[in-house]
Amino acid sequence: MPGSAMSLPENPNIFANNPLDRMSEKRTDADWLAEKRADPTSLFVPMWRLQPFVLPESAPNSGKDVGWMPMAILPELAAPDAVVIFLGINKRGKALFAADISAIKDPENAPALKGLGSFGDLRGLAMASELSPTELAILAQAKSMIDWHLRHGFCSVCGQPSVMAEAGYKRSCPSCKAEHFPRTDPVVIMLPILGQSCFVGRQKIWPKGMFSSLAGFIEPGESIEEAVARELKEEAGLTVSQVTYHSTQPWPYPSSLMIGCHAVAVTGDYQVDGVELSEGRWINRDDARAVLTGKGDGSIWFPPSFAIAHQLIKAFVEGTV
Ligand SMILES: [Zn+2]
Repeated sequence: MPGSAMSLPENPNIFANNPLDRMSEKRTDADWLAEKRADPTSLFVPMWRLQPFVLPESAPNSGKDVGWMPMAILPELAAPDAVVIFLGINKRGKALFAADISAIKDPENAPALKGLGSFGDLRGLAMASELSPTELAILAQAKSMIDWHLRHGFCSVCGQPSVMAEAGYKRSCPSCKAEHFPRTDPVVIMLPILGQSCFVGRQKIWPKGMFSSLAGFIEPGESIEEAVARELKEEAGLTVSQVTYHSTQPWPYPSSLMIGCHAVAVTGDYQVDGVELSEGRWINRDDARAVLTGKGDGSIWFPPSFAIAHQLIKAFVEGTV
């Protein structure tokens, strides 16, 4: 399938592995887009205050489904100028859209949706593993895109209202002709390693006993490696000599890309800054494995597999880095 990412190895992170063909070469074609919006086989997911519509389980723990609806009912739920994003073409050749229906006060009781399902928080749905990973990836795309439009209604150059273009992948300013594109904010998240130990830290506001990888936004003019080295120096006083990339995770809160790395520390000396980090510690491979698999003494714990930090620690424990 042209444009499909399915030939790539599977990414271990939730919200990755989006199966859609985004058809970027067609998004500028208004006729093609209008045809897809009018196609009776095309589907949209209603999004209310950034929460996707989901259909209930048929039996306990059988899993929920995304509440894909035929495009024909869209006019019942959203005004003609509502934000409607083209997501892509699925494996069955159907065009999928996401529509913001936040203007409705009580959407679960709207005639078109009443009794069919409910709106759910995406993070909660992901943590509960109630939707398939590929559906979560599609919803992450939908959430980030709609969120961007709802917060970027005005041109950042001249302050006048801007309008959506190219199926949602651009906003244009009719006044000054500036073009604006959906943004992705890169964040580095990294696990320093020294011999048989890895370094984890915790913030005061985290749940008791939780330790995780350190993270921070990449700054303008900075490489991934430089951001990793700077953040570790600033937050933990650690010096690293090498940075290797592990995997990335789209993180739709609102539109980050978590770039997971491992780093080789020069020495074990560290000093937490007391601001970003309140505590840090080196943990050897065996202890990290025990914590990761729930066989530790219970005094500390790591984020669940939902988080890329978990995958970074897991790779270290398994000796693949
Ligand atoms: Zn403008």
